[in-house]
This record gives sequence, C-alpha cells and structure tokens, in this order.
Amino acid sequence: MTSQSDLVTLEGVQKWYGDLHVLQDINLSIQRGEVLVVIGPSGSGKSTLCRTINRLETIDEGTILVDGQPLPQEGKALAAHRADVGMVFQSFNLFAHKTILENVTLGPIKVRKQPKAEAEQKAKELLDRVGVGHQAAKYPAQLSGGQQQRVAIARALAMDPKVMLFDEPTSALDPEMIKEVLDVMVDLAERGMTMIVVTHEMGFARTAANRVVFMADGAIVEEAEPETFFTNPQSDRAKDFLGKIL
Ligand code: ADP
Ligand code: MG
Repeated sequence: MTSQSDLVTLEGVQKWYGDLHVLQDINLSIQRGEVLVVIGPSGSGKSTLCRTINRLETIDEGTILVDGQPLPQEGKALAAHRADVGMVFQSFNLFAHKTILENVTLGPIKVRKQPKAEAEQKAKELLDRVGVGHQAAKYPAQLSGGQQQRVAIARALAMDPKVMLFDEPTSALDPEMIKEVLDVMVDLAERGMTMIVVTHEMGFARTAANRVVFMADGAIVEEAEPETFFTNPQSDRAKDFLGKIL
C-alpha cells in the first residue's frame, strides 16, 4: 500500500538476468526521513535492488515510485531522477582528473544548471561538513580511501537528493577509516535524510536504522527493527547469516 509519507515504493518488482531470478516480487516502502538498512549474503540481490531504484538497471515487472512518480525511461527526465536519488558505491568512483571541488560541483552545474560560484560555495560547505574542506584543491589519488568516500557523499549531497542510496560504502575501506565514513552517515541520518543503506555494519544499523530488511536469493526474507532483527532473527537464513558475521 502506498501512503503519502512514502518516498520510495517498490511494488511487485521482478527482475531476471537470463535464468537468474535476481529480484523476486520485492514489495518495499521507505518513508520520508526513514533509514533502511539492507543486509544479506553476497549475491542476494542487494546491489541490483539499489541499482533499479537509481534506474541504472531496468526491471521486468512491477512498479518503482520515487516521491509518487514512476521512474522515467530515458532522456532529461531520467537525468533529473538520478539527481534526486544520490548514490554512493563501494568504490568511490570519483573523477580522477578533476579536483575534489570540481568533483562536487560538476553535477550541480551540468544537471542542476547552478551558477559556478553558487555551486562552489555549496560544495565547500559540504566538503567542510564531511571533514575534507581543506582538501578541495587536491585530486582524488592524493586522498585516503576514507576521505575519498566522504567526498563521494558530499558529491551526491550537492545535488540535493530526495533519498540517498549507499551500497556497502565502507567495505572497501581499511578498518581505521570505516568510522569516519559511518560518522558522516549517522550525521546525515540525524539531519533527517531518507536513506537506503546496504551494509553489514551492525553498529550503524543499531544507531541509525529504523528498519532492517534481510534479503536472500533475490527475496526479502525478513523485515524488523534493528534490535529485534539482530537479537531475535526469525528465519533460518537470517540466523545462519548472522551466525557468520557476528
Ligand atoms: P549482492 O549485492 O547482494 O551481492 P548482486 O545484486 O550484486 O548481489 O547480485 C545478485 C545476483 O545477480 C548474483 O548472482 C550476481 O552474480 C548476479 N548479477 C549481478 N549483476 C549481473 C549482471 N549484470 N548480469 C548477470 N548477472 C548479474
Ligand atoms: Mg552488492
């Protein structure tokens, strides 16, 4: 059921890669301001789910609504949709030959048509907020992985997204850099951003998530509040999975 406060709604979403039924009848609503953590074994379809919401992948059946609107098929409407859905990947995907500041201003100038000075002003504020303001003139390779990932978050935020998707944002990072990225994400959650976060960081899930969705083999197997899910998983799949990561 779709309600007014739903920002993202998936209804009966099905997707196949050839014979592989990668998304199996996914029904999921994310409310405004909600932080949803998606967890599950490798290959369960978590990345594919994120990519369909950002329309980096098409779906075969079902409906995805963002802010009440179905996803556009192509063209300018699709570019605008992508700008509304910020995405942060495991690999930071910064433009290597552009400075940190340029990485953040590019989208707002090209897609949002912001004047350069305005985009730079806002980019500097965002870079300060994620703790890398003093690195603005450097190139990505001159930054640590944790710093690059914080730039990637600032870059997504510069587009004023309605929702932020994070696909295992800390899993490529050295352990000592994980916290600095999670701290930025917790701050974002506290500011009321709607977030879908694929992560196995239970500390984050417990601190910031309203709800945990457990996926296995392309299906949502379990959905619960974090504390309930981690202390009292219901399905054998979830019990087995938590036994391996805890
Ligand atoms: P997760 O993020 O949970 O590890 P993925 O969404 O990346 O899972 O992948 C789900 C399944 O879909 C895996 O079996 C993977 O091999 C397969 N898959 C992912 N992308 C493609 C693709 N472009 N073509 C074919 N199979 C794919
Ligand atoms: Mg994945």
